[in-house]
Amino acid sequence: MTDITEEIERENKIINDLLSLVKLDKTEAKPVIQHISINHTIELIMKRLRPIAQKRNIELVYESIRQVTADIDEVKFTLAISNLVENAIKYNIENGWVHVSLNADHKYFYVKVTDSGIGIPAEYQDQIFERFYRVDKARSRETGGTGLGLAIARNIVELHGGKVTVKSEENKFTEFTVKLQK
Ligand code: ATP
Ligand code: MG
Repeated sequence: MTDITEEIERENKIINDLLSLVKLDKTEAKPVIQHISINHTIELIMKRLRPIAQKRNIELVYESIRQVTADIDEVKFTLAISNLVENAIKYNIENGWVHVSLNADHKYFYVKVTDSGIGIPAEYQDQIFERFYRVDKARSRETGGTGLGLAIARNIVELHGGKVTVKSEENKFTEFTVKLQK
């Protein structure tokens, strides 16, 4: 029974992810822009993901360097950042850490998600943003997932006119940076 439930949950997640992507491609992607507190939105994401981090004994830290408000689609932004933080927890080591920070300059704000995890070899760092692309299929199967999280995250960030980049060293760290206009 547990197996069946898990399989249904997995399929549900794939369907929801695909629907998100399809919607992002269509006119429905028209963002619902509101002037929101980015600090508050990230705090809510942290609150929701903290139990998942605790399960793996991963320290989840949020550093709010500046107060930021911006014109953003809150639901889509939440989905993008959640995908990055979920990955940082998932592709981490036991007892590792995830550090999320929010900073800004006069024009842009930056959300950085850094983890102490397994890292991404340089040759895959472009491909991970492609739909269904997963590094190390065998290991990825254990962690579950479809390879859509980053495609969705990038889509959403670009829909807002922003950019998402990655820096990583194998077995050391991975850092995703989302750069968006205030
Ligand atoms: P899904 O997000 O759909 O559940 P997924 O996590 O495999 O599945 P993506 O989020 O698109 O898919 O990530 C693609 C691949 O990039 C992952 O399978 C993993 O190999 C690699 N990856 C992503 N984030 C990290 C990270 N923080 N550290 C190491 N590898 C990562
Ligand atoms: Mg993912």
